[in-house]
Amino acid sequence: MKIVDLTMTIKTKAPVHPIYVEPVVTTWTTIKETGFYSTLLILNDHTLTHLDAPAHVIENGVTVDMLPLEMFIGPGIAVDLSYLPPRSTITRETLLRELEKTGITSFEGWVLLIRTGYDSKIGTPEWFDHPGLDESAAKLLIEKKFKAVGTDAPSIDREPYPAHKPLLQNNIIVYENLTNLKELIGRKFYFYGLPLKIYRGSGSLVRAIAIME
Ligand SMILES: [Zn+2]
Repeated sequence: MKIVDLTMTIKTKAPVHPIYVEPVVTTWTTIKETGFYSTLLILNDHTLTHLDAPAHVIENGVTVDMLPLEMFIGPGIAVDLSYLPPRSTITRETLLRELEKTGITSFEGWVLLIRTGYDSKIGTPEWFDHPGLDESAAKLLIEKKFKAVGTDAPSIDREPYPAHKPLLQNNIIVYENLTNLKELIGRKFYFYGLPLKIYRGSGSLVRAIAIME
């Protein structure tokens, strides 16, 4: 079985959106002092590789602890949009063209992963120049009944964030800051991106993986 890890490593000072707290991962107890090693974590729920629950952008929306587990698992395809120039808009047409190439006719219950290549720019000034979906692209994903959409960029869209709300209103889970999507292009796989069960969480860090067919 070949498994591709789509997850970034959680460590102190790992880059995050400037509005969030810099992550802290530090030793809390040691084997020498107490007989067991443990670490203390201080993190926003949108740190590094994570998913957004509807409550992230919808007042009184569903929180991560309430979402059914089937929402995080499904057959996946990955499309390569790393050729797009900085700050590009990913439109319905862009996605349709890529989806046609896959030869798949029905995407109901599928997970779409979008490679931008911006995971390699993490922490640089260009990191937030990533391409983003517009509303027409979000509507296409809703029409096609995708279960989830993910990207290796820090966000699925750009200010004023036209895709987050329609996607999450339609219970399409959003994964951000994935990595290693290059390995998935042109392949069929099964995607798993399970969140922690955080009470009233607006999202969660995930361990995202692809099991290759
Ligand atoms: Zn997020």
